[in-house]
Amino acid sequence: MLNIEIKKTSNCKKKPNINGDLEFGRVFTDHMFIMDYTKKEGWKNPRIEKFRNISISPAAMIFHYGQSLFEGMKVYKTENDEVQLFRPLKHIQRANSSARRLCMPEIPEEDFLQAIKTLVDIDKEWIPKRKGAALYIRPFMIATESSVNVRPSTRFKFIIILSPVFSYYKEGLNPVKIWIEDRYVRAVRGGIGEAKTGGNYAASMLSQEIAHEAGFSQVLWLDAIEHKYIEEVGAMNIFFKIDNKIITPMLSGSILAGVTRDSVIKLCKHFGYDVEERKISVDEIYLAAKENKLEEVFGTGTAAVISPVGVLKFENEVYTINSNKIGKLTQQIYDTIIGIQSGSKKDLFNWIEKV
Ligand SMILES: *Cc1c(COP(=O)(O)O)cnc(C)c1O
Repeated sequence: MLNIEIKKTSNCKKKPNINGDLEFGRVFTDHMFIMDYTKKEGWKNPRIEKFRNISISPAAMIFHYGQSLFEGMKVYKTENDEVQLFRPLKHIQRANSSARRLCMPEIPEEDFLQAIKTLVDIDKEWIPKRKGAALYIRPFMIATESSVNVRPSTRFKFIIILSPVFSYYKEGLNPVKIWIEDRYVRAVRGGIGEAKTGGNYAASMLSQEIAHEAGFSQVLWLDAIEHKYIEEVGAMNIFFKIDNKIITPMLSGSILAGVTRDSVIKLCKHFGYDVEERKISVDEIYLAAKENKLEEVFGTGTAAVISPVGVLKFENEVYTINSNKIGKLTQQIYDTIIGIQSGSKKDLFNWIEKV
């Protein structure tokens, strides 16, 4: 149990219209959670204070060797103003697994959850109520020891900030156009692809830019060795519905184990579908498309929840899926997850944690 010092600011920001069309991740609430770690003392000084700039040494190791991790989860307000988190423990466990891969300190699960709940409760006026909107929670950890020596840092900061969000993509729940990347790669097995860390995003920006310029909104990565098998999309895992079966790449070490991915697998099984977690090649997808068996494609991630894919481009071939409309199953999964998150649908799998 953390002994959190709470310094509330009386000088609150003027809230924007949190039920309006907010650009994703641009507005932050009044407070943040912060605590420090030293190798000698462990985690210390847990506190909640005004959201403000922090001061760290220009030699802090985060700036040089990139030891950092983050999480992204959401908290919702129900019709009756109950505040509920979606599968927070799964996110916390993943943060600790990222920490182990990156030689960073773990945080006890109950302390992590306590920090989130305490902060969310203080800034709960910032949770939007509109359908599909939420308060996005961004916990992150950075190496703060002042040294340019290459080795794991002995000092870290753990911070949680909050941002009211509406839909992740400008397109909303409209199908997105996806560029299958055949030149650059995001992560290789044995690397850090399964950790939620900034370096993976740094590796992805160039392709993202090229895809944007060509009119595509996201990049779909292929495996780094053969450039043949599907991995995942920008910040989403990917699912294909082929001939009434659901197929998603297996967790191989180079892709992120999405919490939404796990939820969707459980839901699809619940709906009675066969779900296969396995290697799937671009060739298999295109063959299915040519035979008119590629029924639906969608991405899954906390930010967008479910994002239908309308167009796939690989080399010189472009395929339109389901006439560029959202598929039936995609819509059903979206409605179910959003319903559970916002409290309008039954929490079938015990995914909700009340604040
Ligand atoms: C966060 C993330 C996802 C989605 O994971 P969720 O737990 O579903 O939000 C997928 N891929 C990458 C690279 C990510 O960083």
